[in-house]
Amino acid sequence: MNARATLLDLRRVSQVYWSGGRSFTAIQNIDLHLEEGEFLALLGPSGCGKSTLLRIITGLQAPTSGRVLYRGEPLTGVNPHATIVFQTFALFPWLTVLENVEVALKARGVPAKLRASRALDLLDRVGLDGFETAYPRELSGGMRQKVGFARAMAVEPELLCLDEPFSALDVLSAESLRGELLELWTGGNIPTRAILLVTHNIEEAVLLADRIVVMDKDPGRVITDFRVDYPQPRQRKDPRFLDLVDRVYMILAGHTQPEHLELGTAPGEPGRTRALPHINIDDLAGLMEHLDAMPGNRADIYALARELTMSSDHLLQLIEAAEILGFATVAQGDITLTGLGETFAEASIPARKEIFATRLRRVPIVRWLLSLLQAADRRQLEWDVVQKALELEFHEEEAERQLETVISWGRYAEMLTYDDSREIIYLEPGAAVSAPR
Ligand code: ADP
Repeated sequence: MNARATLLDLRRVSQVYWSGGRSFTAIQNIDLHLEEGEFLALLGPSGCGKSTLLRIITGLQAPTSGRVLYRGEPLTGVNPHATIVFQTFALFPWLTVLENVEVALKARGVPAKLRASRALDLLDRVGLDGFETAYPRELSGGMRQKVGFARAMAVEPELLCLDEPFSALDVLSAESLRGELLELWTGGNIPTRAILLVTHNIEEAVLLADRIVVMDKDPGRVITDFRVDYPQPRQRKDPRFLDLVDRVYMILAGHTQPEHLELGTAPGEPGRTRALPHINIDDLAGLMEHLDAMPGNRADIYALARELTMSSDHLLQLIEAAEILGFATVAQGDITLTGLGETFAEASIPARKEIFATRLRRVPIVRWLLSLLQAADRRQLEWDVVQKALELEFHEEEAERQLETVISWGRYAEMLTYDDSREIIYLEPGAAVSAPR
């Protein structure tokens, strides 16, 4: 790659969504530049606005505020130089592999007589030689995604956006397709000038990208942007690779700590209501047990994700829950059980529930719901009433998920129950409400 022209330039881009009469800031003041020759990976927890950003970059959506420049020009409408490959590429099931690629060429205005040979060449490049006449249903997930890549290449995009392109594939297909993508890219066999990969997978980002941008949520924003100075081919067992992966985990997990020191405020109180991570307590207990069996009750978060074969997103949510409950602390990419966490891990089920309940009562959103129930007629409330109250703090979908999580955690702690058929939340008889803060 010669000249390092700037392809993409986002300046203070924000996106506000409206739902149920409330506004919700999905991303806030994002500055992002992408130069020719760069392979950039965008990492971050679910809901940090990665998809929103991709839609803005490809021009499928205009941001609420900020500027989007492509090669120095403001982007208006769909960006003709960018293409997205999605997690599950929508192939036409009634067309053969070859025809699926030809459709994309047709849409680009390539004359009919040139289409077949061009499509064959593209299929060849992604390694689908010999499958031209097959139908999508005859292909494995990995092969279907290759057709997706070939179709994206047919458009000859300058900017190739990949939205979790490997996450629906089995481990082996994902790895081989990553290798093939890298080969296409580093070999200069495609007209693509830059790649923007959205992923949850930290290792994947470190394996492929030249630059990693890490986002956080509430509101979605960039927290780190750094270069990966480690030449290809990269090896997963190389200490440099492991160091980089560790560093990214540190940024993602370590970051939750300051928030935890202050649990946030309850709905209706001034300040920010802290959202609970959406995890189930059995998974949390599993993690606590695992850590309890480790020397020093400590583990490297990156190693942990591999050992537990768990997505980093899920693991980080579990870790966030452990921190909120005071069961673990995170520092420098390591998670360590607290004394309380250790006690919890080693306790019988009823004792665990008690420890958990004690901690849960300190969590502002739980404290708030318990006091509402306490004050309510027959100590019960309709789901809708509580959800509406939560919608003052969260957008509709998140309010619903928060309530689901509070109820599931509250049930585990035997503080409250929920009657699904009548959609009513009850306070458990005997549940202690007055909470130490
Ligand atoms: P990610 O791809 O990182 O998971 P998204 O860009 O999909 O994040 O979403 C960011 C936040 O914006 C999420 O909280 C999501 O619920 C919210 N959101 C996304 N699209 C809309 C929409 N059309 N209306 C309301 N909220 C939305």
